[in-house]
Amino acid sequence: MPLGVYVQVPFCQTKCTYCNFHTGVVSRDRYRPYVDAVCRDISDASASSTESVDTVYVGGGTPSLLDTEDLARLLHALVRSFPGPRVEVTLEADPETVTPERTAAWQRAGFNRISLGAQSFQDVELQNAGRLHRREDIFRAVDLLRSAGLSNVSLDLIAGLPHQTRASWEDSVSQLLRIYPDHVSVYMLEIDEGSRLGRESLAGGSRYAAGAIPSDDDMADFYECAARRLADAGYHHYEISNWGLPGRESLHNLKYWRREAYLGFGAGAHSFDGIARWANVHEPVRYTTLIERGATAREQFEVVSPAQALAEEFFLGLRQIEGIDIAPIEQRSDPSLGLRWETLHQRIDTLQSHGLVKLEGTRLRIAPNRLTISNEVFLELLG
Ligand code: SF4
Repeated sequence: MPLGVYVQVPFCQTKCTYCNFHTGVVSRDRYRPYVDAVCRDISDASASSTESVDTVYVGGGTPSLLDTEDLARLLHALVRSFPGPRVEVTLEADPETVTPERTAAWQRAGFNRISLGAQSFQDVELQNAGRLHRREDIFRAVDLLRSAGLSNVSLDLIAGLPHQTRASWEDSVSQLLRIYPDHVSVYMLEIDEGSRLGRESLAGGSRYAAGAIPSDDDMADFYECAARRLADAGYHHYEISNWGLPGRESLHNLKYWRREAYLGFGAGAHSFDGIARWANVHEPVRYTTLIERGATAREQFEVVSPAQALAEEFFLGLRQIEGIDIAPIEQRSDPSLGLRWETLHQRIDTLQSHGLVKLEGTRLRIAPNRLTISNEVFLELLG
């Protein structure tokens, strides 16, 4: 099975109010040494691997900020190091960073899919969230991408931004459908205590409009509304947060939910080889220094135990709308997990009687009208 490769670019132009990722606003001078280090990391890793790579995802952060030559160097390092063919090569981009010169260069470098961080089509919501783009930038960016031959575009929306209302959400979904991208992600805002918005929701204040965050019930209503309208428009709902036109599901992200192997390069990137999981150090300068010295940037190396592997099969697999076939998972699971399976079967029965999951034959899935509380269902099942 070919690998997926994820490359993390941890740089942004500004910090969104709700963001608590390990990303930073740094001088552009720091970009090139970082890219040099990632290229070296890729080439070192390939020395101990004979695997081929079929999907690449360059995410962040805002990787579209990098000079186009640096992005091309990253892809060339992968081509030199791992055999192909590359089926899906995605770049995450912010709408305001999309220019005619960049789109042409991205296409030439080998990217064939762009994930555009739209998030909302309402200027007031974008401004409050600390985003630099506005509604018109999204339309302009998609036009430029399509003119450059980058027609496979994914757009995302966030349900739950401050000042969002049912009417403004309906309008954002309508604008998105006017564009009719190949792929759509809808995320429900998670308010992290470490973000500026999260701190304001706890401590009070009005700078980031924490008081104007929609309620959990409203957020769930927004999600359901988007799910209905996307289905009516012909999108295939294949994962809790993701919809694609037929054949446009994200092949790279499917690897995560199917527990297939992937390698991560860059600060904070995660890897999984089917047996162990590991992550690189989070701090970009430290990552760069370690790689420049010829040392490993890996930390948190952990062999996945049979019990953990079982929990992951459920936790990750059930994010897919089609669910999982539990029979082959049970057949190949470690015999020492017999007791755990007994508990799992009992829990599945209880959750089914409460309408939270559906078991049809041996195929288990989250009940379609309970997707907005999937985390609670996972806890009940695996906790
Ligand atoms: S663009 Fe993404 S990574 Fe950067 S600050 Fe905003 S949410 Fe965080």
